[in-house]
Amino acid sequence: MDEKKKRIVIAIDGHSSSGKSTMAKDLARAIGYTYIDTGAMYRAVTLYCLRNGLFDGDNIRTDALREAIGKIEISFRPNPRTGRPDTYLNGENVEQEIRGMEVADKVSPVAALGFVRRALVAKQQEMGREKGVVMDGRDIGTVVFPDAELKIFVTASPEVRARRRLEELEAKGIAASYEEVLANVRKRDHIDSTRAESPLRQADDALVLDNSHLSIAEQQAWLLEQYHRVAGQ
Ligand code: C5P
Repeated sequence: MDEKKKRIVIAIDGHSSSGKSTMAKDLARAIGYTYIDTGAMYRAVTLYCLRNGLFDGDNIRTDALREAIGKIEISFRPNPRTGRPDTYLNGENVEQEIRGMEVADKVSPVAALGFVRRALVAKQQEMGREKGVVMDGRDIGTVVFPDAELKIFVTASPEVRARRRLEELEAKGIAASYEEVLANVRKRDHIDSTRAESPLRQADDALVLDNSHLSIAEQQAWLLEQYHRVAGQ
């Protein structure tokens, strides 16, 4: 990393499947920062609930989860094959499992629980204490790091996002229909934006990036430019 550059926190928030994770991961790799996927942390808690019978249909057994939350250990370890971090739940690699439709379908109500958010936000703040992180999520620029030096809010139309998500799932061999994925994208947008605890919203000082019609390379060039502007040439 360039010594003259200031070490900063980069907060990337936005809608589900807006491509923010790809952007955040590529940026982190390009500038030698640590990438932290906070959505993966909410997904891992959701997987824990599914595996431990903490769902009753769509309802969560909140008392049982409240009791368990302190024992749920989430960490990231680099995967040498992909060059990206994998998510671990209590020591087990769950990277594949947390990306499936079952977890996607149940994660928003889990992420709406205040005690879950408080536990994960504290962990995220700890992970970014030394700066030099690119963190992606929904509330990074508003709640986790309101003083982040660079805040980006990424969005794209629900249809574009559903197409991207479908392609991602297909590439992983996970079967789903376009209608099902679009419904999930819309449902998560609605729950994430209207929940009482830290709803998804753009920070006042965030830069907005609508990438509906941008290629990954174009987004990356734009993002690097923002980074150099803030961290110094
Ligand atoms: O980013 P990703 O789609 O993997 O996030 C999964 C879910 O986790 C989101 O739909 C949202 O409900 C929740 N989330 C959140 N706050 C974050 C990151 C994710 O509420 N910082």
